[in-house]
Order: sequence, then C-alpha cells, then structure tokens
Amino acid sequence: MELSPHNTTEVLIVGAGPTGLMMACQLAVHHVSFRIIDKNSSPSQNSGALIVQARTLEIFEQLGIASDAIKEGTIADRIEILYNGKKIAGTSIKDIGRELSQFPFLLMLEQSQTEKLLLKFLKARGCYVERNVQFRKFAEHKNRITTEVIMPDGSRQTIASNYLIGADGSKSAVRNFLNIPFNGKAYSRPIFILDGRAISDFGSGVITFAFSRKSVAGFFPLKDQRWRVDGSFPGKVKKSETLTLETVTKGLQHWNNLNFKLQDIEWFSVSHSQQKYPPTIRIGNCFLAGDSAHVNTPVGAQGMNTGLQDAHNLAWKLAFVLKQNAKPELLDSYSTERLGISKGFARYADAVFRVATNTTNAVSIFRTFILKMFLKRIFPKLEKKEKLRLKFFKSISQIDIHYKPAFGIYEESEKLFLHRTPKPGYRLPYVDFMYDNKNTNSHQILPATRFTLLVFAKELTSEIKSISEKYNLAVVLLKPRPETNSIYTSLGITNTGYYLIRPDMYIGLRSATLKIENLNMYLQQWSESIKPDTNNLNS
Ligand SMILES: Cc1cc2nc3c(=O)[nH]c(=O)nc-3n(C[C@H](O)[C@H](O)[C@H](O)COP(=O)(O)OP(=O)(O)OC[C@H]3O[C@@H](n4cnc5c(N)ncnc54)[C@H](O)[C@@H]3O)c2cc1C
Repeated sequence: MELSPHNTTEVLIVGAGPTGLMMACQLAVHHVSFRIIDKNSSPSQNSGALIVQARTLEIFEQLGIASDAIKEGTIADRIEILYNGKKIAGTSIKDIGRELSQFPFLLMLEQSQTEKLLLKFLKARGCYVERNVQFRKFAEHKNRITTEVIMPDGSRQTIASNYLIGADGSKSAVRNFLNIPFNGKAYSRPIFILDGRAISDFGSGVITFAFSRKSVAGFFPLKDQRWRVDGSFPGKVKKSETLTLETVTKGLQHWNNLNFKLQDIEWFSVSHSQQKYPPTIRIGNCFLAGDSAHVNTPVGAQGMNTGLQDAHNLAWKLAFVLKQNAKPELLDSYSTERLGISKGFARYADAVFRVATNTTNAVSIFRTFILKMFLKRIFPKLEKKEKLRLKFFKSISQIDIHYKPAFGIYEESEKLFLHRTPKPGYRLPYVDFMYDNKNTNSHQILPATRFTLLVFAKELTSEIKSISEKYNLAVVLLKPRPETNSIYTSLGITNTGYYLIRPDMYIGLRSATLKIENLNMYLQQWSESIKPDTNNLNS
C-alpha cells in the first residue's frame, strides 16, 4: 500500500501526557519528524503530578522553559508535620539542594500547567497534538512500523514510521498489544485526591502533612489560594459507596483535628495506587516510556518526573540514529539504562505508603508512637546535618540517578581521579564558574543536540581537534585559571584531562590525560563518524 507523505514520519508517539509531550519537544529540538496522537479531546485539567523535581527543571532549562515553569508554579518553602492537629516538626526546604542544582527546591506546578508549557514549546515550532485519535494496532516490517489508528470520524488510518513510542499511560494499549505483562501490585486501601479552595490557617508555600491514628493527609498550596489535598480514609470508611467527596468534606477536619475547611472543589478522585513494571521496555523498534513502563505510588512525586527523563534519555539516541549516522545499537542503551529505573526509590515509597494508608490497629499505634517520635527527631537533623540534607535532596530530586556505563570502557587514567569525583554514567554535576569573562555553569555550556568534550588544558591538542571534528563534538576548552578552579576541583582534574558529556548531560567517558585512544574507541562503538545535522550546526 502506498502511503501519502503525511502518513509517513520518523517517530509516531502514542499518548500526549507529560511523557509523550516531552518526547515530542525533544524530537523537535533534534529536528526529527514525528506525529503525536492522543485519544482524549483535551489535555489534563487538574493538578495531577504536582511536584516538578530539580532534574526535570534542568531539562526544562535546556528547552528554555524552566523560568516559565517557576513563574507558573510555587516553590515549596517548608514542610510541616502535624499530629492530631498540633505541629510536631518542620523544616525549611526552600534551597534544600543548594550547590547541587541550579534548581535546589521542589516546584509545585500543576500537571495541567506542565503540559501547557510543553504544548506551547511545540506550538512555537509548528508542532501539534492530533487529538481524538486512538492507537489500535501495529505491525513491524523490516525497518518500518505501520500503525493503525482510529481517526476522530471513526475511520481507520495507517501511519508508517521508523519508530513507535508507547507513552500511553499505565493501561498502555501499545504494551497490551505487544502482550508485555505489567507485573506488581495494586494497593487495597484507596486514597483520595482533590483540588479546590479552602479556609485554613496553613501557610502559603508550606507543604503540610497531617496524621493521626485515623488517617494521613498531605496539603499542597496551589496558585490563587487553591489547595491540592491527598489523603487516606480512616478504617471505618470501607465500602466504596462511602468513599465520596461528601465523606471527605465532612471528615477531613475531624479525622486529623484540623482547621481546614474545604470549599469549591474543582476535582475529586478516589484511586488505588499501584506499583508495576514490565519485564521489557522495548520490542524491535517500539519503545515504552513513562507510566506505560512503570507505575508507583504518589509518594515522593516521582512518576511524571521519571517519564520525562525516559523521553529525554531516548530522544537523543533516536535522533543520532536517524539523523547523524549512529549505529542502531546505541538504542540498546535505552533499555539498559531505564528499565526498572524507579524500583530503588519505590521500595522506600512502598513502606511510606503502607504506613500512611493502613488502618489496622498495629499500624495506627505505630503512627501514634514510633512515627511521631521518628519525625520529631529527623526533621531538626535535616536542617543541621549537611550529609542528611544532601542525601535527601539527591534521592528525591532525581539528580542522583545514574547508569552503568553502557559501553563498558574505562580509561586507565580512572585511578588518577579522586574517589568522590563524578564517574561515567552519572549526571554532570552542577558547578558555577567563569567562562569568557562571564558567569556560567557546567550545564549551561552544554548544547542539547551534541556530545560535548570538556577539555581541561592550556590548549587543544591536534588529536583532540581532529577527533572532535570527526565526531562533531562541541568542544569547551577550560584553561587552568582561578575562574575555572571550581570546575577543575569538582570534576577532580589536577592537571589536564577531559570529560565527554552526552546530549542528556550524562558523563560518557572521562580521562585524566589528553590521550584520545579510549575516546576514539568509545565513539567508534556506535559510529564510524558523526554526520553533523545541518539544522543543528549552530547549537
Ligand atoms: C494522585 C497522584 C499524584 C501524583 N503526583 C505526582 C507528582 O507530584 N510528581 C510526579 O512526578 N508524578 C506524580 N504522579 C504520577 C504521574 O501522574 C504520572 O506518572 C504521569 O502522569 C505519567 O505521564 P505519562 O505521560 O507517562 O502518562 P499519562 O499521563 O497517563 O498520559 C498518557 C496519555 O496517553 C493517552 N492514551 C492512552 N491510551 C491511548 C490510545 N490507545 N491511543 C491514543 N492515546 C492514548 C491518554 O489519553 C493520555 O493522555 C501522581 C500520580 C497520582 C495518581
């Protein structure tokens, strides 16, 4: 069958939630053609995934939308804990990740706003989401996927693409079509989520967690004196017909002994959280990303942020294979790096979620005595103990996510680096320094569409010049000067050396000498040479 040019594209994205939209934005940056479809007629309208983590803001900054996100959202000032309505602990979190990220905080931004920002980015590049279009099935042929979709008028259309992305949420039709199991558990105790106005004495900018023997609830301030509230039901409220907004409106104050009167509810939902993963996130040229590849409890606000990073991880690899001569083997690292990526944090989230929602006597007693004591002790330490503060921020903000170096090449000069300096497979740390007489930072100097070679030397060697040309590397020469001292120290360079940084800001390789043999081997594994994408020459 001959398809019209409109019906062929390089990448077809199924699902325009945060993950699909991020994938589309990243592909737009790399000048990869795509179509993005969604079965819904409009984007989400509620607060949904509310917390945007620092790592996501770093990616937003690469897209140039971080400042808009911050303007539209609210930076969380403090966390406070109430037991039976009385404050038992609290800590400032306004700059809890200082020195670790350009965005050392938790940003509260409603999912509807996050999606709006990504849609605005796409619109400015002439891209749009095709709505009321539903994925039905696909077939993979040699180097080509044909996908059948149902159009808004009910007709069927076939779209041919090189790659297919299933970013279609936890009930993923793409995953189901591939018969990929989604294993794990669904929690038996329900939670409620609502957005609305309230009369309360909770501070704006303060995230409040209130608990009692009966239940647990989290209160998140939104713009315009609105609130997002997530909570568990007391043990007495068991039957599904009583899990209603009326039950929550009447009970919330009383369950936790609070001064918090709900008014004008905009959104109310009751759900059973899940923790599920598939055994694979790739079959042939079809990839799963976002909630189709992992779902977890809302504890720690990781889900959407993880999905956004799946897209960030995969998009540049697709672009390099499609546009820049890279071998398709590069795509294997998507599964190696992202499969089960959220499992570590999920173990901790699982324990917190169980304690929060369980209504047995034993857990209620645990909440009343042990948890109360623990929180009273740990919160002051978060402010005073530097190590604890950094550990907390690193794990929640997702800046500490790291991968096994996919290509397994280690420079023999690795041993010249100090123990605590950033290794291949880790995100390049955030470091402020001066470059060309201007204040800059280690992230700002990285182009989003190319590998960057940070060279620590007085000048570039001829070998470095020629390898950079061959592989179209962006080169940043960092001469040893007082202005660059901070980046030399942070990256553990005592004399000369280099760091090769991937387009997603992860360290590919590092060397404490200027020898290029391993750099050559590293780059050769997925390409004989890089064909510069003419659209990206200036980026
Ligand atoms: C109460 C709660 C609070 C949360 N809070 C946070 C938080 O603070 N921070 C955080 O990071 N995460 C949070 N999460 C998780 C977060 O909401 C999800 O991880 C995130 O929405 C996943 O995005 P996604 O794009 O992968 O999937 P989705 O948002 O589910 O989007 C999938 C899209 O695919 C479309 N689609 C589905 N099937 C088809 C089909 N057959 N054809 C075409 N289109 C299709 C859907 O219409 C939808 O638009 C929370 C979740 C819950 C339940």
